[in-house]
Amino acid sequence: MAGQLFDNHGRRINYLRLAVTDRCNLRCFYCMPEEGIKYVARQELLTYEEMVRMVSVLVPLGIEKIRLTGGEPFLRRDFMDFLRSIHQIPGLKQINLTTNGTLTEQHVPELKAMGINSVNLSIDSLDRKRFHEITRRDSLPQVWSTFEALINTGIETKLNAVVMDGRNIDDILPMVELTKRYPVSVRFIEEMPFNGDVAHYEKLPWDHRRIMGHIREAYPTIEKLPDPPSSTSYNYQIPGHQGTVGVIAAYSRTFCGTCNRIRITPQGLLKTCLYDQGVLNLRNLLRAGATDEQLQDTFTSALQHRARDGWEAEGRQSRDPNARESMATIGG
Ligand code: SAM
Ligand code: SF4
Repeated sequence: MAGQLFDNHGRRINYLRLAVTDRCNLRCFYCMPEEGIKYVARQELLTYEEMVRMVSVLVPLGIEKIRLTGGEPFLRRDFMDFLRSIHQIPGLKQINLTTNGTLTEQHVPELKAMGINSVNLSIDSLDRKRFHEITRRDSLPQVWSTFEALINTGIETKLNAVVMDGRNIDDILPMVELTKRYPVSVRFIEEMPFNGDVAHYEKLPWDHRRIMGHIREAYPTIEKLPDPPSSTSYNYQIPGHQGTVGVIAAYSRTFCGTCNRIRITPQGLLKTCLYDQGVLNLRNLLRAGATDEQLQDTFTSALQHRARDGWEAEGRQSRDPNARESMATIGG
């Protein structure tokens, strides 16, 4: 039977976000500079075998749910083979994916057949020109086809849009309107300072309150829904609509108190908070021949030093606060 893993603040940890690559075929303004980021050398990336081993070691400790992300996960060669291996790990109750949708459509039937629980698709604008300006690639038609394929196949789908002043504010209401026609959860995310470059703002212009105020003005009857345990989004629904609307206060960090998640980066760093800079190098341990038991012990003790919230984790960093990591190396 699976164990139960708790951190030093008594929070149960059962959710792993694993970034399988830092490579990406888009250049989203909020995630990477135009010229891209300096990618991790290939030999420093965890191999698929190492990732499968890591997950197999973590599941008996109490990890039940995994999200595969990146970079763009479908850009890594043989990603579907890797997904099949993860799917076979006994004890894992949920497998979710986050993707930019540019290379995903052809795999949708197999994702459905495999029983992938949900897919988060990033789409920051429904307008082709604005989408191009934000992602620096003209890929909206392809991403939209992936969206339709996911919906038609009946895979639970969430759309993620990062809200950016002066870039996609005009998209907020059309995206909310999608929930009328589609059984989709549209989530608006506060922009975080993880763009591989300098911070875009001194003060975040569109925080969760302003985003919600904007939506409420257009949809005064919108209703609050109960939020699932450890949810990062505040969830709402417009009466009569099939889908739901969520707002993720990723910058304001209002959800840290119930955080149940850990992250592993493409190079094998364990992050116990989105805002820490990695607390343990799992790749080095694996490559030094650590046994499963040693890995589990090291991992469990890393959780005993977990920051209370994102503010504390950020305060503990030793790196230059102006050097902004890219979300592609964190996994979102
Ligand atoms: N490439 C995939 C994608 O875009 O969905 C997966 C990786 S991406 C880093 C994961 C999520 O992080 C995306 O939904 C993206 O919008 C979000 N993200 C990236 N940079 C962000 C930032 N600076 N602030 C808020 N969210 C960000
Ligand atoms: Fe690529 Fe996703 Fe980052 Fe956009 S958000 S550059 S799609 S990793």
